[in-house]
Amino acid sequence: MEKKDLDWANLGFGYMNADYRYVSNYKDGKWDDGAIITDSNIVLNECAGVLQYAQTCFEGLKAYTTEDGKVVCFRPDLNAQRMKDSCERLEMPVFPEDRFIDAVEQVVKANAAWVPPYGSGATLYIRPYMIATNSVIGVKPAEEYQFRILVTPVGPYFKGGAKPLTIRVSDFDRAAPHGTGHVKAGLNYAMSLHAIVDAHNKGYDENMYLDPATRTKVEETGGANFIFITKDGKLVTPKSDSILPSITRRSLMIVAEKYLGLTVEHREVLLSELDDFAECGLCGTAAVISPVGKIDDHGRNICFPSGMEKMGPVIQKLYDTLTGIQMGRIEAPEGWIKEIM
Ligand SMILES: *Cc1c(COP(=O)(O)O)cnc(C)c1O
Repeated sequence: MEKKDLDWANLGFGYMNADYRYVSNYKDGKWDDGAIITDSNIVLNECAGVLQYAQTCFEGLKAYTTEDGKVVCFRPDLNAQRMKDSCERLEMPVFPEDRFIDAVEQVVKANAAWVPPYGSGATLYIRPYMIATNSVIGVKPAEEYQFRILVTPVGPYFKGGAKPLTIRVSDFDRAAPHGTGHVKAGLNYAMSLHAIVDAHNKGYDENMYLDPATRTKVEETGGANFIFITKDGKLVTPKSDSILPSITRRSLMIVAEKYLGLTVEHREVLLSELDDFAECGLCGTAAVISPVGKIDDHGRNICFPSGMEKMGPVIQKLYDTLTGIQMGRIEAPEGWIKEIM
């Protein structure tokens, strides 16, 4: 397989128009057979449900080239399941979970030339998504939908690699306060853009969002869950119904317990206990784990002992083990790795 002539080691986290995408249409109550196509543009009616009432949701996963030259995906069954949950909450039809996995496989195979080589630091980002396509002007769910998967090769999400981030406790909420926080959808991201731009303007890398009801509990950032390491080496991660259930976070909880022998606590995390932690990180498919060096809570600065120079030691071990599993250097738990080629 002839690879594309790209500078793999220096890719940013951006979109490239790869050769192929997967498309399936929903009409008269059923999905068509689906196909791999070349056209990256979508033509829609001006009154399409996605444009007027934001009926759309998405997923994000990656394909990796392993040490022995295979191309694999990490736990795509969990993405299929989560997209089903998002669709149900948004009154969209579910794209069957087995077909979701099959479509991921088809689109990665078609774009094999775009899968970054092992050791380059880059991966193929896979973005499944669904949009409401027919016209709706009265407020109601649409009747026709399109499910698509695009792929694009990506480098690290945060510039500067493993340099710890500075984040601030946000006065804005991440999601609309009506139970949409657990849905992976553009509507939550649209609501977070102002907070992100404002944070960047003030010199912060990211926002820490709190529970909107009491503003005393840690939820997540715009696109990643929090993990904390206590001074005695436990992994603590916030539990809340309005957090997006990160597959990376759920996997790290298992890695921590089963591979590293750490105690894992999935529970409410209070803003007031941040001083008790030794390390902090953001985790998600895009970020993998990005260390956090400092959190600014309205002038109260929490500086983690792990510092602003590099990842803390426990987060580094979690990172090495998870990426080792994804790249095929460490044996994975049963069912975690889906071989594509
Ligand atoms: C996608 C996403 C995450 C990370 O989830 P992963 O499954 O680990 O990629 C975290 N928070 C939000 C809001 C997200 O949309």
